[in-house]
Amino acid sequence: MTRDIAIDGPSGSGKTSIGVRVADELRLMFVDSGLLYRVFTAAYCERFADVGRVDLAGLRGIASERVRYMESGEVLYGGRHLAVPLHGDPVDGLVSPVSAVPSVRSAVNRELRRISNVRDVVMAGRDIGTTVLPHAFLKVFITAPAEVRALRRAAQLNRLGVRITMDDALANIVERDRIDSTRKDSPLRCTPDHLLLDNSGCGIDGIAAVIAAEYGRRLNDAV
Ligand code: C5P
Repeated sequence: MTRDIAIDGPSGSGKTSIGVRVADELRLMFVDSGLLYRVFTAAYCERFADVGRVDLAGLRGIASERVRYMESGEVLYGGRHLAVPLHGDPVDGLVSPVSAVPSVRSAVNRELRRISNVRDVVMAGRDIGTTVLPHAFLKVFITAPAEVRALRRAAQLNRLGVRITMDDALANIVERDRIDSTRKDSPLRCTPDHLLLDNSGCGIDGIAAVIAAEYGRRLNDAV
């Protein structure tokens, strides 16, 4: 039986930092599924340099290339690192429309399931508990108000050396929320199976501790 943890939630909810902490504590592999969508988007931007929108015909060729998520957390596209940065412009602006395309989702899901067949994972994303790992041992949904998430996202980008105003960060978060939760193929949603946790106040350590404790409790119940 697999012991995977699925962590879903909107952009900037803190699920990556929390997932990394939980994975460290429980000695599981952390997988950030958003990186795979970012890699396909970066590959698209690399090939169609000045296209500011998503062209489905162009994407078809991009989605057929092999992506590989390494144990180190790096992602290779066709066996190589891409020149376009995965965070900030232009990837941030195009990643949600690219992610709404079913051929891209199938390619990402294939790679995510390959990893979870080999290792027990903490996997973060939008549809992990609903679509990618519907039988996950524990499913968590992390949320926070859009303003809190935008502040966090702007700080994260600034740390990566990408300048962004608070207004732009908020606009990007709101638009990605809209696309991610209204798309037809595996939209972002919290189900009754998810343990819902609000990350506006209690901080990464507090939330990670709640998840690790719940995981331990379920492991005990399972023996
Ligand atoms: O988590 P992150 O913000 O890096 O994800 C980038 C984008 O990838 C999201 O805005 C969403 O459109 C898409 N995504 C998704 N399903 C996932 C993970 C990410 O659609 N499981």
